[in-house]
Amino acid sequence: MTELTDLEFDLEHIWHPYTSMTQPLPTFKVKKAYGAIIELEDGRQLIDGMSSWWCAIHGYNHPELNQAVTDQLQKMSHIMFGGFTHDPAIELGKLLLKITPPSLDKIFYADSGSVAVEVALKMAVQFWTSQGKSHKTNFVTPRSGYHGDTWNAMSVCDPVTGMHQIFGSSLPNRFFVPAPQVGFYDQWNQADIAELEQVLKNHHQTIAGLILEPIVQGAGGMRFYHPEYLRQAKLLCEKYQVLLIFDEIATGFGRTGKLFAWEHARVEPDIMCIGKGLTGGYMTLSATLTSKHVAQIISKGEAGVFMHGPTFMANPLACAVALKSTEVLLAQDWQVNIQRIEKQLEQYLQPLSQLDYVQDVRVLGAIGVVELSFNVDMQTLQQQFVQRGIWIRPFGKLVYVMPPYVISEQQLKILLQQLVEVVEQMQEVTA
Ligand code: PMP
Repeated sequence: MTELTDLEFDLEHIWHPYTSMTQPLPTFKVKKAYGAIIELEDGRQLIDGMSSWWCAIHGYNHPELNQAVTDQLQKMSHIMFGGFTHDPAIELGKLLLKITPPSLDKIFYADSGSVAVEVALKMAVQFWTSQGKSHKTNFVTPRSGYHGDTWNAMSVCDPVTGMHQIFGSSLPNRFFVPAPQVGFYDQWNQADIAELEQVLKNHHQTIAGLILEPIVQGAGGMRFYHPEYLRQAKLLCEKYQVLLIFDEIATGFGRTGKLFAWEHARVEPDIMCIGKGLTGGYMTLSATLTSKHVAQIISKGEAGVFMHGPTFMANPLACAVALKSTEVLLAQDWQVNIQRIEKQLEQYLQPLSQLDYVQDVRVLGAIGVVELSFNVDMQTLQQQFVQRGIWIRPFGKLVYVMPPYVISEQQLKILLQQLVEVVEQMQEVTA
């Protein structure tokens, strides 16, 4: 029997995100990555347009982040969080409380974005059951949302793109309202919130929380919506006694031009999830923050405790690098840098809106989206991008970029010029 090559072994035995094991998509083997460059095993260098799905905000192999991990490694890589605490968790906590909404006061460290969302949903349910409102266990959420792939996180993802039907009755049934329609830069229209009001009015007795991604709906469609939606949602949550949960896992740490997206509306949630860029993409870590009030009520309940405690809770290596990553971000003029990226994204991408098969071009902060009128062939497009020395992974009708903040003007220019050429050449395919 001939031995499999590494890539053949990978195809045969290792699952990749959302792929088939019988017809797997090809993968590219990475040797190393530094700054905004991903180097493949065959020596090809790609300019990164994805920040490894939002997280590598400072690019790869960052000397200060490397040092933070190395220093922590000398002390301990992990220690159980039950009965112990440590500097990385405490120092990170102090910093997080300074940069997140002022009313948030308690931090739960978890190990991935999806788990942070599970934790948020559990907090909301325990908050109500602790007050004897044991029927308030369901959730309402806008369509086109994405909150992760674990069971309950999945249940609040868009039911169509999340393919809820596959899981049948095993998935809890949530209340879905239409995705916000008024764009970030458009004129606010109160009709955008009407259905949410109806659902809350009719069902608030059974609803524990409203969960949404503030301002930017990410993996569910890369949509940017109006800040007034959040202000109105907050008022409705207060009126109908429902907790407001912001999932800032994708939007956090500067990506939308504000440190966190809630700042576009100045609306504070009751519970907030962060992750991804938290560690600069070095390690998996997330956090769910809530107010003193919510935490106190939970603790007064029958259980007397919040019922969650993952093995790798507050992993010291992850906390140490998260602390350093956040310090590195705050130490620079990050807003000016994001504006630089935003301007360049607009300059290169906006002209694509002239093409009749381009439905929309939108830019917010360091996120640029080209929405086409048809679904792209991800595999073919990805090959083309790699041949042109750039890394972009489109999905559905969307070709989008969210580069690491360290990307230089010249690198971003090349990335966008190549992207534009590939989209322009689609004309021949669609003609
Ligand atoms: N919420 C949002 C808004 C996300 O974008 C993601 C990841 N794409 C998640 C939750 C889930 O995070 P993770 O993949 O780390 O579980």
